[in-house]
Formats: sequence, structure tokens, C-alpha cells
Amino acid sequence: MTVDRENASYMPRREFIRHTAMIGAAAAIAPSLLATSSIQAQAGRPPSEIYPYKVPLLNYGHSALEPYLDGRTMEIHHGKHHAAYVANLNSALESYPELQKKSPTELLKMLDQIPEKIRTQVRNHGGGHVNHSLFWQVMKPKGGGEPEGQIGDKIKSAFGDFKTFKEEFSKAAVGVFGSGWAWLVYSKGEVQIITTANQDSPLSQGMVPLLGVDVWEHAYYLKFQNRRGDYVNSWWNVVNWHMVGSFYARAVKG
Ligand code: MN
Repeated sequence: MTVDRENASYMPRREFIRHTAMIGAAAAIAPSLLATSSIQAQAGRPPSEIYPYKVPLLNYGHSALEPYLDGRTMEIHHGKHHAAYVANLNSALESYPELQKKSPTELLKMLDQIPEKIRTQVRNHGGGHVNHSLFWQVMKPKGGGEPEGQIGDKIKSAFGDFKTFKEEFSKAAVGVFGSGWAWLVYSKGEVQIITTANQDSPLSQGMVPLLGVDVWEHAYYLKFQNRRGDYVNSWWNVVNWHMVGSFYARAVKG
């Protein structure tokens, strides 16, 4: 694989320029127009949150998380699985212009108000989009270690120490029956570990996801086959604690 192809797959410059140009165009519209326009609600959002939603770019190459997560899995996971959730969510909202103005996160928070006809699709594919968008961000090359600062303190006070938290989180992840996720979530001043089935999002339960691990087989089968525990052990080495800490700080602020 050439360097160019690798770069093009996760950080195409033209995408960045296009996004920047869109923000510029929105800012050039008179304020009176903005007040009644959905552009106002969408200004400042990344392309992954503006309908038709886009798959967010990775901040690292597909192979950058090796040897812990393999490049081929990352390529298929991000480029095919995540892309399918996005395409299916876009398709579900095709005839719902009012819902198209919402961010995927907002849609998941108001799942009970989504028309019944498309509620399951929004739950599954909207969840898939939002869950994976977080997943890519809470990983990085040369990650791992222990969290510092406020999130480190919060984990220690909630679980006793980091080692205990890690054990409980791994146990929850390995214990998910079938496909799903294990999460560290923030809710009402506290952090806790939960699991969700399929692509269900903690947002639909009024919780804020801070860290999540995808335990669908598509996340690990090529490298780890049925050994989910080995995958989770390996995954700890790429956790981006700085990002988890910033999600925590944002959640606390509300
Ligand atoms: Mn996945």
C-alpha cells in the first residue's frame, strides 16, 4: 500500500477544505436569514453530524493501532461497517426533513419521539454511527496507560483503583451475550460501567458515553477469532485517556 492511498483513506485534504468552505459560506449569510434557517442549528457541526451524515475521518491510519488492533480490521470496520450505518441512517431519514435537522446524537436522545415507522432504523443505524464515531476517538496509537486528572480521580473514587475498574470493565465487555458494547458512562454526577446490546446507545437512556469498546465480532474476528478476552486486553493499549477525560469534562459541564 502506498503512503498516498493510506493518507487518502483517513485524512483527505480536500475534505477538510470543503468543510472549511462550508463554514465560511454559512457565516457569510445575513444573520436575519440564519435565525430562521436550519443552517444556524448546523453551523459548527462536523460533516458527520450534518444530514446527509458522513463517516468521520480517522485521526490516524488504519494500521496505526497495530500490533494491538490490525489494519485490515480497522479498514473494514471504519470503511464498510461504519459506512453502512451512516448510509442506512441517511436512507431512514430521507422523507423526514424535520429530523434531518437534528444531529445523530439528538436523534438518539429523543428516540421515543421518533416516528415508529423508522424508530428501529434510527436506533440501530443512528446508534451504529454515534457509537463508532466515539469508538475511533477514544483510541490512538501509543495509547493506554492510566487516566490522569479529573477522570483518573473520578474512576479511583468510583471503583477503588484503576486496576479494579479495568477488571470490571473487561469482565462486562467479555460478558456481553452476542453483539454489543461495554461503556464507561456519566450520569447524574457519577460514572459507571454499563453494557448495551446491538447498537443501542447510552444516550437513549439519558447517559453520556465516555469510553466504549465494540464487542461485535466484526471488531476482532480477523485477528482474534473467538478470543474476545484477548481482543479486550489488547484494546486497553490503544485507549486515548486524554479524549475520555475531555468527554468527562464536557459531560460534567452539562
Ligand atoms: Mn463495530
